[in-house]
Amino acid sequence: MAGATSDLFSARLLQRKVELMRRYSIPDSVLPGSISLSHLRCGKPSCRCANRPEVRHPVWTYTFMVDGKKHTQHIAKEMLEEVKARVIAGRELLDAVREVLSINAQLMVLTRKQQIQHRRSKR
Ligand SMILES: [Zn+2]
Repeated sequence: MAGATSDLFSARLLQRKVELMRRYSIPDSVLPGSISLSHLRCGKPSCRCANRPEVRHPVWTYTFMVDGKKHTQHIAKEMLEEVKARVIAGRELLDAVREVLSINAQLMVLTRKQQIQHRRSKR
């Protein structure tokens, strides 16, 4: 039944995503988190990496947070460029949203100051 449960969970997530995307014009497929590269031994006794410390396999890992919990996912080589691009787009979107909110706050303060100065100069 795990499949049916996760299908329902996926359907709920997708519904919520579409709702938020419609309301805030969020581009599709952007990802949170980051990608990191490490060099590891594969564990196969017959592999060159087993007894040569200078031989390691590059491993790309995608890390993201959901509800304060950290998740990691190995990225296959053929998916790397796509995931990278989606993570960069996600970071740019978050930066843009933060910047807009910050500009809104600064404009609100400036507008209020101008209103006060305008009132004073009229007296
Ligand atoms: Zn190996």
